Amino acid sequence: MIRAVIFDMDGVLIDARDWHYEALNRALGLFGYKIGREEHLDVFDGLPTSHKLHMLTESRGLPSELHSLINEMKQSYTMDLVALRCRPVFHHRYALARLKEAGYKLAVASNSIRASVDAMMDRADLTRFLDVTMSNEDVSRAKPHPEIYLETCALLGVAPTEAVVVEDAEYGVQAAENAGTHVLRVNGVEDVTFAAISQFIQEVEDSSAALQRA
Ligand SMILES: [Mg+2]
Repeated sequence: MIRAVIFDMDGVLIDARDWHYEALNRALGLFGYKIGREEHLDVFDGLPTSHKLHMLTESRGLPSELHSLINEMKQSYTMDLVALRCRPVFHHRYALARLKEAGYKLAVASNSIRASVDAMMDRADLTRFLDVTMSNEDVSRAKPHPEIYLETCALLGVAPTEAVVVEDAEYGVQAAENAGTHVLRVNGVEDVTFAAISQFIQEVEDSSAALQRA
């Protein structure tokens, strides 16, 4: 039986992949660095900013003394974009309201920092539906490590096999699979609907019932 639904945030509940890309490039631009859009989607998407900066130091010689300053600027630009662009989305509010009403525990588990998770969930008007929110500051190893999903399940009081995780990016899918949860992979925020999630829960429950009969 599925008892919980855990959402990744960026690219799942919040269409923020471009915001992170723009904010990071604006901060890097102050020091003459730039990353391409394709590169961001292929290599960097879904990783914490600190990991991205380490990768840029290894691949392009970005001085590591600049990391904390660039990180600070990036987070502040992200907050500007959140204030400008982050709004409630009807089909997300509807999905979370219906799932909550049906008795599922709900959580967000994100590789973003705590301030971003709180600001984005508040502005999207989703905080009131969530039993637990987890940021990359609440775990010692970010996704693709499974820690954040294991910890979220523990806080919700469910086993990983009783949880559905909604994820859009490769690192997140790996984390959720290695934690032992059932992963619903989506291409973007528009795929995250009550119908899609309830259908996936039904499929998971049907296939585990079939396994038990076999
Ligand atoms: Mg994501």
